[in-house]
Amino acid sequence: MNNDWKLDVFQRIKQASNAFLGYPLAKDFSYEDFAPFLNYVINNVGDPESPSTLAIDTKDIEIKCVQFFTRILKGDPKKVWGYVTNGGTEGNLYGLYVAREAFPHAIVYYSESTHYSVKKNLHLLQIPNIVIRARENGEMDYDDLDSTIALKRDHPAIFFLNIGTTMTEAVDKLDEIKKIIKKYAIKDFYIHCDAAFLGALAPFIEGGPKFDFSEGVDSISISGHKFLGSPIPCGLVLVKRNHRDRVAHSISYVDTLDTTITGSRNGMTPLFIWDFIQKQGVEGLIKRTKESQALAKYTEDEMNKIGIKAWRNNDGLTVVFPKPSLKIRNRFQLASDENISHVICVPGIKKEQIDQLIEALKNDHEEVEHHTEENASPNLYITTAS
Ligand SMILES: *Cc1c(COP(=O)(O)O)cnc(C)c1O
Repeated sequence: MNNDWKLDVFQRIKQASNAFLGYPLAKDFSYEDFAPFLNYVINNVGDPESPSTLAIDTKDIEIKCVQFFTRILKGDPKKVWGYVTNGGTEGNLYGLYVAREAFPHAIVYYSESTHYSVKKNLHLLQIPNIVIRARENGEMDYDDLDSTIALKRDHPAIFFLNIGTTMTEAVDKLDEIKKIIKKYAIKDFYIHCDAAFLGALAPFIEGGPKFDFSEGVDSISISGHKFLGSPIPCGLVLVKRNHRDRVAHSISYVDTLDTTITGSRNGMTPLFIWDFIQKQGVEGLIKRTKESQALAKYTEDEMNKIGIKAWRNNDGLTVVFPKPSLKIRNRFQLASDENISHVICVPGIKKEQIDQLIEALKNDHEEVEHHTEENASPNLYITTAS
């Protein structure tokens, strides 16, 4: 690299990327061999299945990525359509968009542990919505959902389910939602699953969450840069084909169908996703899942050993524990919410880094006590120094 500023930015990114432990972004990839593509404009404008006059696309590869995920999520590629998005947020926006087109008078139900971007999506789409309480572990409180639906049973319902919440990796149970649908004989309903993080690994967790197309869901959003890992944010959205057909309009300017949220779309990210699938496939995904689970269990156990009350939902990769000092949160880039922080054991995180965190947490107790002493009122201050 010949410019100073580039080197500066590069070093900064490299250093920060190696250090973080609190975000669900896999880091064990290298896409250096895609560098030659950087000399061309690549654009998957419009619907992946409809060719455009502009032929500089990777839609053939994009379709293969969609089909791969359709299959692992037990869908029939003839009945499921999808595209490579800019990330989980766009996939959720898309699911809610086609849900609204299917049921224009519906109400959306989602739990208070839902990702922050969903509120904004609902605002953009102007869909009436009701927030349902969450339980301590981050999962939807089905009793609260039940009593809410009881008052709204004459309205079509859109259920927005978390298949792994951002903070605690909690899973909203599809069976519980189905029970409520049946109990109140709701005829018009739509089920969207936000599987940003778990979409690429839950199918491989024994006794893992049920949320696939064989269970009757309408759409699923997955992030590509989370469990798979990608240098550019990306994701996949999968929807039942009839929902996509409802919003398909033909555009003469590029001679393609305008079924996606954005017009011009990233043509590089499908290449990364497909490369991952080619190199790792289902076996690789299973292996990654097992290794990550093992590291998460190790982290939880080591924390428990030093007296930190760490826990995980469903043998997941997210280890939740009481919020440590700001110093530790900054050093390890730990995401926090009120009283909890988490470590997410994604591929690329090393055991040594976990050990460093454990070591720091051991000493953190002392620091917190010291901090309290300093801030205590003078008459409570007990001097131990000479
Ligand atoms: C990360 C995340 C999102 C947003 O995904 P992006 O890929 O960052 O847009 C949505 N929902 C959940 C549960 C997430 O963890």
